[in-house]
Amino acid sequence: MENFQNRFLKESVQSDHYFSCNSFLKGKFGERIGKITIDAGFTCPNRDGKKGYGGCIYCDALGSGIGKKIPLEQQIEEQLSYRIKKYKKFLLYFQAYTNTYDNVEDLNKRYEIINKYDELVGLVIGTRADCIDEEKLELINSYTDKYFVQIEYGLQSINKGTRDWMNRLETIEEFENALNMTYVYPNIFLGVHVIFGLPYETKNYHIELAEYINSLNIDGIKIHNLYIPKSSPLAKIYEKQGIKLIKQDEFVKQIYEFLKILNKNIVIMRIGGTALPNELLAPQWALNKFTTFEKLRKLYLK
Ligand code: SF4
Repeated sequence: MENFQNRFLKESVQSDHYFSCNSFLKGKFGERIGKITIDAGFTCPNRDGKKGYGGCIYCDALGSGIGKKIPLEQQIEEQLSYRIKKYKKFLLYFQAYTNTYDNVEDLNKRYEIINKYDELVGLVIGTRADCIDEEKLELINSYTDKYFVQIEYGLQSINKGTRDWMNRLETIEEFENALNMTYVYPNIFLGVHVIFGLPYETKNYHIELAEYINSLNIDGIKIHNLYIPKSSPLAKIYEKQGIKLIKQDEFVKQIYEFLKILNKNIVIMRIGGTALPNELLAPQWALNKFTTFEKLRKLYLK
């Protein structure tokens, strides 16, 4: 898609380097922006039986959440109290589980917490593509009058076999329908998540993935490496059968080749997932994002 323009950029990016989220947010707000991550007490259709039980194979038992019902105000204020030393403004990130999995009225009761804090300048909502509809998009879009608003859909893999293996229980068609439905809202920043290092992908899968992503209308992408949380279904498979996990050097090489092909107007919202030390089973390098960036930086300097 050669003529693609990120709707949030005034002009096309002219650089060989990738376009980082920090640069994008600094350009938009004129300063560095922090993130407040909350668990708003949602569940997921892949866990409560609507679509399945057990969840995606790589998902930890808490769906990346905290597993306790802590009032949203308390979660926000605790994080603000120590992050305010580094940042003045923040995005409010609804991260745990599926953050559009409720009726519109109850969704709004959670989202509207943003109005209580002057430090919060943006709303970020992570969700599944099969949990969105026009009514929910209208609600989310209503926040764009006042805030930067971002939706993130999990794609994870473009291969049906891999998606079945990971128990995603969602089709590529559902994913593409959600993108099409969302793209008509020009003020909603549209992001997707993908995972690198999934077993059973071909050697050049990352190239195929970059070409597929270039064919979509999206504004940003998060790139995770596959890692195994101790409480995930994948942990049992790993301990019983073993799984070949991607090495850090190979991950970095794939990222580099992927980013070379990827449309430069797509914002790179993240490279590498962040594992908690007490929750990580393997690989251990997933604890150290810094070395991943260092290795990537050296490849760009070559
Ligand atoms: S990764 Fe997301 S979609 Fe999959 S089970 Fe966890 S919360 Fe649900």
